[in-house]
Amino acid sequence: MSGGLQDRMAAATRDKRVIGAIRLATWRKVEKRETALASLPHADDLRARAAQIRRHTIEHLPRYLGQFAERVAAAGGHVHFAANAAVACQIITKLAAARTLRLAVKSKSMTSEEIHLNAALEAQGVQVVETDLGEFIVQIDRDRPSHIITPIIHKDRKQVAEAMVRELGCEYSEDPQVLSMIARHHLRDIFRRCDLGISGVNFGIAESGTLCLITNEGNGRLTTTRPRVHVALMGIEKVIPRLTDLPVFLKLISRASGGQAMSVYTTLITGPRKPSDRDGPEELHVVIMDNGRSGILNGPAAEVLNCIRCGACLNACPVYRNTGGHAYDSVYPGPIGALITPLLFGPAHAELPRASSLCGACKVACPVNIDIPALLVRLRHLSRGQQPWSKRLLMQLWSRAMSSPTLYRWGQYLLRGIVADDGTGWATRGPGPLGAWTTQRDLLRPAARSFRERWREELRDDA
Ligand code: SF4
Repeated sequence: MSGGLQDRMAAATRDKRVIGAIRLATWRKVEKRETALASLPHADDLRARAAQIRRHTIEHLPRYLGQFAERVAAAGGHVHFAANAAVACQIITKLAAARTLRLAVKSKSMTSEEIHLNAALEAQGVQVVETDLGEFIVQIDRDRPSHIITPIIHKDRKQVAEAMVRELGCEYSEDPQVLSMIARHHLRDIFRRCDLGISGVNFGIAESGTLCLITNEGNGRLTTTRPRVHVALMGIEKVIPRLTDLPVFLKLISRASGGQAMSVYTTLITGPRKPSDRDGPEELHVVIMDNGRSGILNGPAAEVLNCIRCGACLNACPVYRNTGGHAYDSVYPGPIGALITPLLFGPAHAELPRASSLCGACKVACPVNIDIPALLVRLRHLSRGQQPWSKRLLMQLWSRAMSSPTLYRWGQYLLRGIVADDGTGWATRGPGPLGAWTTQRDLLRPAARSFRERWREELRDDA
């Protein structure tokens, strides 16, 4: 999807089938999240505790990262630091080339999407197969994920069935169980033959060098145990101090993302296979990637690094629910994407923090209490110079009018005169620069008589 943010969002809202599917799926997730959190004793205390752990970790990130790297190495793993996406891809492609690894299986990892790792490996002759069911469908259908947890939230059964028939040559069926079994059968054969496993990391535990992976399908465990080499790619912010901190997040993350009390698989990996182990990789490599995160750490929106990528803010967001993920033109859509995309990928995405109604639903949903609306406003303020002159002028006039009762009164008279009323009290077509505003939102028309006018009349009548 190309064009500016407004064009992309407008185009996305017109696809009624996709938007219908997204609305239904996100609505169900919101309901399940609310029920799951309501059944959790002291949920608010737990969220406050999670936020406090994340804040503390990010404030002491160099210390915990150093400890984590040291403990991974002590457990027999290899640690690589990557300053950016290119370096991370280079490290992993070189690892594969040096060991003549040819078939990679991958469990779900947004960080690998962020750096386009599949393309980098495939350019070096390594076949990469996504093994998370949603990501697998996205891959065979040559599509892009549209949600950080539910990559095919925008697809219906028919599209999935058609992609499977076309790419796997199977019988047509729209039965989810049949479709899952077809994918399972196909992937089992890949797992038997693969020699490289690539995963993300949900949490890296500093005190033990343990990697925690949370998945709902068995593919995560097969990816990290079946191939002879396991590469885990993690952003620098994924570290937490202690093993005892982990349950706080485990209790929250699955409830927040889809209303589950617990994800189906919680995998803890400390080092590669030991002589007494029956399975596991011969080598474990942990690639710790910065790719713009340390810049965020020292900036005005460092709080976004507290994110645990649960996806709850996407499900709660009315903008995401009415446009889907592709309109954001980023691997990270929704409210969290509107924040981290411009921070990670630069001013070309400066408009994204405006893809929000600032209703606050994301803040309510966030299990680590990130004040997403406040951060969106902060980023909007920082990029105000890139706004069109007409919008800046309008905002300056608005600001002046709001701080002067006289100007405010005159502004009301003016608006009453120039903004056409369609009979509902709302203006749907504004003149001049207001036109751009009203193409996307309706403007509440000023009342025929203001409160002050009515108040004065009341006083006059009483006298
Ligand atoms: S910002 Fe909060 S709600 Fe959104 S993905 Fe991150 S942790 Fe989840």
